[in-house]
Amino acid sequence: MTGRSWIESANLADADFPLHHLPWGRFERSDMPGRWALGVAVGDMAMDVSLLVEAGLARGLDGSLREALAGPSLNGLLALGRPAWHQARAWAMRLLAAEEPALRDRKDRGRFLVPRDQLRMALAMDVGDYTDFYASIHHATNVGSMFRPDNPLLPNWRHVPIGYHGRASTLVPSGTAVRRPFGQSSAAESGPPSFGPCRLFDYELEVGVVVGPGNGIGERVDIATARDRLFGICLVNDWSARDVQKWEYVPLGPFTAKNFCTSVGAWVTPLEAIEPWLEPGPVRDAAAPENLPYLRWSGDFTFDLKLQVLLRSARMREQGMPAMQVSVGTYRDMYWTFAQMLTHHACTGCAMRPGDLLASGTVSGPTPESRGCLLERTWRGTEPLSLPDGTQRKFLEDGDEVILRGWFDARGGTGRIGLGECRGVVLPAIA
Ligand code: CA
Repeated sequence: MTGRSWIESANLADADFPLHHLPWGRFERSDMPGRWALGVAVGDMAMDVSLLVEAGLARGLDGSLREALAGPSLNGLLALGRPAWHQARAWAMRLLAAEEPALRDRKDRGRFLVPRDQLRMALAMDVGDYTDFYASIHHATNVGSMFRPDNPLLPNWRHVPIGYHGRASTLVPSGTAVRRPFGQSSAAESGPPSFGPCRLFDYELEVGVVVGPGNGIGERVDIATARDRLFGICLVNDWSARDVQKWEYVPLGPFTAKNFCTSVGAWVTPLEAIEPWLEPGPVRDAAAPENLPYLRWSGDFTFDLKLQVLLRSARMREQGMPAMQVSVGTYRDMYWTFAQMLTHHACTGCAMRPGDLLASGTVSGPTPESRGCLLERTWRGTEPLSLPDGTQRKFLEDGDEVILRGWFDARGGTGRIGLGECRGVVLPAIA
């Protein structure tokens, strides 16, 4: 189903946000400073859903749903669950469909539709808790083989979706610059350490999933209900200080190496929008052990989301050069699913709440071109990348801009959709 919209830019074949996508975001309009609204992206515009509710144009919706869509964060909608998500999406889609006159033929329709380049974006939801997983077997094996050559993949890895609790306080929307952090590191394995600006600064290409209805303390999540608890996906860049990480990660995992900034794509793509691309999975090799029963679900799914990393140095920007592709891969290569991550996270009775963000961990595939961070892409700096400005990169330099993109290619009768982008420029450390 690829319907047409009366917003012409949504009908272009290469549009990220056609009518059958409609990702959700939170924004401040340049013509309404100080007011934050919820809306959906369509073509190069955003539809101000909160204003539609205010103007009485959402009377057909349930009262609780209208209240949630009035804003200012997506959490109200997330808490209402899948039937409400469907109702809101179907309503927005109908309003924007080419044949639907209700909004199209209003003289004041321009009030409700804003060019996206006139928006300041925030994260769509207030994130109470953020957790980062480690769900790619290629990434885990590559990193493991650098840090522990004789024991790259630990025995628990194929049984436990490994993760760590991140910092919700330092999640920022795409477009926010990231400051090179200070940290403690040591050139030699046994010390002595020093303190200073991170020297091995890296990105991590990841996909996040936004949690809807959660569970109370002491309750578990049955994996068969996980799909109904997951609202949608977005791009995530888990900026990483590799020198700090190497010194501090034993015995409890990442700490300050990853707590200073994590960039999040501003538009959240509902799982309902990617249903045409959901497929059974993940597909694992014959050596993979069977998971324990609480992580098994006959309905579990993966998807062929294409993911790309682009890099542009300050000099490339000054000279008007386009960003260079550093890697391209697919989410289908991941070992653990979002349903398994959510279920395992809550298996102790850990409470999950609407708006919680779970990130997948670096998405890496089996080939060098599909490695989702510089640590792997340059193999710890031993295979530097050559940039079109004549310089080389082992890790990120000040002024470098990292751009993540994700998209689903057209499939069956459904046209392509894109997740937009997640970008950030590296600023120098402050002494
Ligand atoms: Ca990560």
